[in-house]
Amino acid sequence: MSFRLFDAPLREPSQFVGFAGNMIDRQSENRADDSVDKALADPATRLLLMHGGRLYLKLGDSGALDPWFGATESEPFKVSLAQGILLGFSELGPVLAVPAGVEPEQLPETVKAIDYRSVYMQGLIDEAAAGAMAQGAALLAWHASHRFCSKCGTESQMRAGGYKRHCPNCGTEHFPRTDPVAIMLTATREKCLLGRGRHFAPGMYSALAGFIEPGETIEAAVRRETLEEAGIRLGRVVYHASQPWPFPYSLMIGCFGEPLNDDIQADLNELEDCRWFFRDEVRLMLERTHKDNLVTPPKGAIAHHLIRAWVDSE
Ligand SMILES: [Zn+2]
Repeated sequence: MSFRLFDAPLREPSQFVGFAGNMIDRQSENRADDSVDKALADPATRLLLMHGGRLYLKLGDSGALDPWFGATESEPFKVSLAQGILLGFSELGPVLAVPAGVEPEQLPETVKAIDYRSVYMQGLIDEAAAGAMAQGAALLAWHASHRFCSKCGTESQMRAGGYKRHCPNCGTEHFPRTDPVAIMLTATREKCLLGRGRHFAPGMYSALAGFIEPGETIEAAVRRETLEEAGIRLGRVVYHASQPWPFPYSLMIGCFGEPLNDDIQADLNELEDCRWFFRDEVRLMLERTHKDNLVTPPKGAIAHHLIRAWVDSE
């Protein structure tokens, strides 16, 4: 059989995961060192205000939450504009993510500080804003934990609109990280492998996952993690979809794996339980109608999409 490049479906599965709705035009080729200052001079600029893993949201009269602040409007929140990151450009103008200095408990009644996970899980903002939040959250977290040059220890400086740090002592340039995580659903036509982490919500089972290590392909990481966590050897591994995951700056890479053995040997340091589930049972878990209240992860999670795609497959 010959290889055909564009046999993949037009409907990309990655379009449907949480944080995938980012509409920002990043214009990565135009990130001059003065790009944040230029953006702030534009009255149409909109800011996302962030503090300690939380997004600040304006509470409207109707109860709707609005994450967008104007530059002047953001001043009372002690924003560090020098630490602002130019995420890119929307149809309305430049978009920045900026650390705010005001503590959540000092905020006025009309502004709420809500952690990123709740903002996303509860669908408090639209998908485009959630995507922008993921981009900003990942970059602010990276800057906060990479203040000093890892080569010589000198405090480095933000450059390129927040997409680089430069060391004034040794000249090394540091670039934002994205940490790849493999998440995989091991499945046959009849059954799939789901596990329960020790910190999961009651009744929840999900696809297994683990960090991809240096020098490893995605497929090798999927096979290694599945063998380590469940004692299941995999044959074929197929990529399905990916998801930006800003906790703090991962990329979830979702795959399907074909099991070569049946007998699970769960790593009970990592997992509380791991077992095979038949398709009918998983369908009930997706629909939240399982008799023992077992559930799969919520809709925005890539695990949900892997499980849903398998349940709906032939
Ligand atoms: Zn240095």
